[in-house]
Order: sequence, then C-alpha cells, then structure tokens
Amino acid sequence: MRKIENFIAGEYVAAASGQRFDKRSPLDNRVIASIAEAGRGEVDAAVKAARGALNGEWGGLTTEQRVELLYGVANEITRRFDDFVEAEMADTGQPAHVQKHVFIPRGAANFKVFADVIKNVASESFQMATPDGRGALNYSMRVPKGVVGVICPWNAPFMLMTWKVGPALACGNTVVVKPSEESPQTAALLGEVMNAVGIPKGVYNVVHGFGPDSAGEFLTQHPGINAITFTGETRTGAAIMKAASEGMRDVSFELGGKNAGIVFADADFDAAVDGIFRSAFLNSGQVCLGTERVYVERPIFERFVQALKVKAEAVKFGRPDDHNANYGPLISQEHRDKVLSYYRKAVEEGATVVTGGGVPEMPGELTAGAWVQPTIWTGLPDNASVVRDEIFGPCCHIRPFDSENEVVALANDNVYGLSTTIWTNDLARAHRMAARVEVGITWINSWFLRDLRTPFGGSKQSGIGREGGVHSLEFYTETRNVCVKL
Ligand code: NAD
Repeated sequence: MRKIENFIAGEYVAAASGQRFDKRSPLDNRVIASIAEAGRGEVDAAVKAARGALNGEWGGLTTEQRVELLYGVANEITRRFDDFVEAEMADTGQPAHVQKHVFIPRGAANFKVFADVIKNVASESFQMATPDGRGALNYSMRVPKGVVGVICPWNAPFMLMTWKVGPALACGNTVVVKPSEESPQTAALLGEVMNAVGIPKGVYNVVHGFGPDSAGEFLTQHPGINAITFTGETRTGAAIMKAASEGMRDVSFELGGKNAGIVFADADFDAAVDGIFRSAFLNSGQVCLGTERVYVERPIFERFVQALKVKAEAVKFGRPDDHNANYGPLISQEHRDKVLSYYRKAVEEGATVVTGGGVPEMPGELTAGAWVQPTIWTGLPDNASVVRDEIFGPCCHIRPFDSENEVVALANDNVYGLSTTIWTNDLARAHRMAARVEVGITWINSWFLRDLRTPFGGSKQSGIGREGGVHSLEFYTETRNVCVKL
C-alpha cells in the first residue's frame, strides 16, 4: 500500500494532526493508498511556501529561464512515463492504452506547449505627447497573478491538473494544487519531477483532502490565494465562486456538461457510429466532453441505434493491463451508486433499454469493483431527468429528429453548454450548426481532437473563461502598464 503525503516547499510532509484517509481501487475496492489529509495548517504552509517562491528565486527568473525549466519538467515526465501510467491506472482503473496514448502524453505536452506560448508573447507600447514636448513612452507587460489555487477532478487527473499547472508556471505564478481525493497519486509524483528538474522549492505544492470543511475549502478560502482555477461539477463551482468573492479573487471554471451528439442522415454512417461510441463510452463515460444525448435524423435512426448497440455489447471489461480488455470501471462505489440510480430512473421514466442498464458479471475479486454496463436508452421524453442531468457514466439516450431547426432547439435546451459533436457531409450545414449550438467547443465529424493552442471552455453553466494557448494568459497573468517620461 502506498503512503501519499502533502508536498510543501519541496518536501513530502504528513498532516500535523496525523489525519489520513484511504484510497480504494475502483477495480476491486481494495485499499491501495493511505493519504495525508491536509488541515488548515498545511494549507497555510503551502500558500506561504508558494508566496515565498514568488517573492524569491522563482519571481526573479527570466522568461527564458522558466521556459527551460518547464521543458525539463516535460522531459522528466516522459522519462518517468511508466511511473505516471502506473499511478494513474491504479487510481482510476482505466485501460493502459488510454493512459499511454492520451492522458499522460498530454500531461507532458502541457508543460512544453505553454512554455512555447509564453516565449512568443509580445506586448504593446505607445508614445504619447506631453506639454513640455519631450513625450512619454507607455509599455505594457504581463505579470503573474500570484499564488494560484488549482482544484482538480478525478476523471483524467494528470492531464487536467497539468493543463492548469503548466500555463500557471509558464506565466510565472506559483501554485497550490488540491487533487481529487479519488486520484492523488500523479499530483504527488509530479513533486519528485519538480525536485529532480530543479524547480525552486515552493513553486509547486500539493495539499490532499476533500472539498467542504477540508483541504479544498481551506484553500479556496485562504486570503493568500490570488486566483482559483477549478475543474469539476457546476455546483462545486458555485461554492468556490462564493469563497472567491471574499477578496475579489479571479476564477476560471471548467464545469459539467450534458453534451449533444447530432447525426444527420447524410453523414458517413460508420464514422458517425464510431465517433458517437467513443464520445459516449471512452473512459467509461467519465469525460466532461462526452455525449449523453444523441440526436439522429429519422431515416437512419433505427439502423444507428442497432449499430451502437452492437458496439456497446462488444466491450471487454478488465484490468488496465489486460491486453484483451478495453473497458474499465467507474472511479468509485459512490459514483457507481449515482450512475446506477440514473439507470433505475431511466426505467421509471419510461425508457426502452436498448442495452445494458446494470452491472456486468466479473470474475473473482473484480466482483467488488465499481463496474457498470455501457447503457443505451431510447423513448424518453425531453424533460426526463436522464435526458437533462449530467450522469457522468457510460450511457446515452438516443432520440430521432426531423429538421435542422428542431435539433438546434433540442441541443440548446439544457443548462449546460460545454461541447457538441455534429456528423454530416453537408459542409454548409455543418458551419450553420456550429454557429447555432450554444457550446464552447463544436466538433464536426470528429470528437476529442484538441490542439492545445485553441480556446477551451464551456458556455452557460459549463464554465467561466477560456483556457488554452494565449487564452490561458488572460487568466494566469495581469497586464501592467508602465509609463516613462522621456
Ligand atoms: P467535484 O466538483 O465533485 O470535485 C472536484 C474537486 O473539487 C475535487 O478535488 C473536490 O475535492 C473539490 N471540491 C469539492 N467541493 C469543494 C468545495 N466546496 N470547495 C473546494 N473544493 C471542493 O467533481 P468531480 O466529481 O471530481 O469531477 C467530475 C465533474 O467534473 C463532472 O461534473 C465533469 O463534467 C467535470 N469536469 C469538467 C471538465 C471541463 O473541462 N469542463 C473536465 C473534467 C471534468
């Protein structure tokens, strides 16, 4: 069993209270790690360490020096690739191929890409007239916000954490990270990387614990935090926003979604089935950008439902390192209870269960894991809770539509507005739809393709702000003007 400690000022430290909590494997519910739970004292020490680094060595580095160090972080993650893959597999139970080909490489890229972005940022300058005729020169500079609180979820822990830590450090901030209680291991491991590369102590700190009345809340309430970046549920975002209002701290939020997948009859049928399958079931449906509402044009509706059913029934459950398996469990028993409660609700609300709806039979100790079947429903009214709420599991409801206007109205009829995926071979229609669907990210004939330089974020209750490429600078820096009398 692993022992995971807080990482403060370059040292791994237990909680002064001695308080610890357990992390259980999603595969079989065994306790796999014991984690030090940070109290107010550890959070305060982490914020002080971050402030000290900002006012000390880190704050004095040039952009070029920071960039070199961040390249070093990316390289060291790549060198320790297997350790990160193994830690992430242990926490999430998700298949090795997802970690190896998507999540961990993206984590390393998050340091490299934002180092490149910051290297190429220009600033503006203006010469102005003055009454004495000598004039003045104004120039602007981007300065770090200060100490940034980073609060992370469990569904793609390393990728989503580094997506924030990378740009925050590239911009010259220091961070205190609170990983999810369900996925503490890669955040802890990153401390070793920071030390190995020579990132000054206090630049990167990690405090472990839960949300309310625990490390999450202690961090967001701490007056020494200048800005808070958060990925997680919308209602958690609302609580954090309240905490951030004390002291007028800026927030960047990446929140929940109930994303629509829209398939027109003229689409490449097989590509659309594959794309919707991936978007509904990758990572066992625990992807904020995943599709839980599928709208299919009526002429191909029945055929589409049958094709998706075949694919869903072909998944192979198993351990992450089982080469014959391609499908993992949910993150925890608690999350499985939530997902299964929606599986029951769907039936109560009158759904036709096309496939799934329960728990798969697993061998041996895996019976104790958080497994659920990929599930497809049809026949629900548009106001059913299963069609409206984010479930965050491997499931989707499929409904037929007859016109472009109808499907735009259906797609937009939700409080969330994170992403959509549209499948059609009519280019003009694709662009019309992209302009009308109320989301932050639209994919046409694709899903989950991400260039890290592009803006990422949600509309409506799916988020506040955009991160990615130069857009991250809007949040992680402030612009200061300097006026020089000539
Ligand atoms: P969550 O909101 O339950 O928890 C996220 C983090 O917030 C955890 O570290 C948790 O401990 C902490 N937290 C909880 N309450 C807090 C409080 N009051 N104060 C401070 N911190 C608190 O979310 P989750 O279950 O870990 O993740 C799943 C959710 O994340 C889904 O809603 C999903 O859509 C969303 N998500 C969004 C994106 C995006 O980019 N928009 C990406 C991934 C996940």
